[in-house]
Amino acid sequence: MSLKNLCQKAFPRSLWVYHTNTGSCNGCDIEVINVLTPYYDAERFGIKLVGSPRHADVLLVAGPVTRQVADATRRLYEAVPSPKLVFAIGSCACGGGIWFDTYNVLGGADKVIPVDFYIPGCPPRPEAILYGAAVALGLAPKKAEPELSRQEFLDILESSKEAAEVKTG
Ligand code: SF4
Repeated sequence: MSLKNLCQKAFPRSLWVYHTNTGSCNGCDIEVINVLTPYYDAERFGIKLVGSPRHADVLLVAGPVTRQVADATRRLYEAVPSPKLVFAIGSCACGGGIWFDTYNVLGGADKVIPVDFYIPGCPPRPEAILYGAAVALGLAPKKAEPELSRQEFLDILESSKEAAEVKTG
């Protein structure tokens, strides 16, 4: 069963969301809250912020994962009942952002928990967050299909680095 079909079956009417900050500068968190304000009014689509991970269908992760919060993030993921979805909100949660190689950051959210949807941007616009939720619910099609997987992209990056090193001697 595809992820889209699973979402449609498991979450037919609403997504209850728990939002966590794993090291964010607060920019992404403000946009997540913005989505819930009367202007964007995500609640009309059944998207509702809840105060406990035990009530949530979806975990929204904002910020790079710092060493300090890694274990707490794993426990938080375990606390959300299955079936569950994880959204990485913002470039930091997608891959570490500008902090990806700093000493106290492990990287993006997928370094510690499985991530289903990535919404990049620094921070992503509220429209992008809503669009990501709509794609997850099967209400909107993806605008573009990925041509390379993340691993394929990293392999190409690695081989081009090696080639450059050989060239420079
Ligand atoms: S993606 Fe940008 S706005 Fe979001 S936490 Fe990182 S630095 Fe802040």
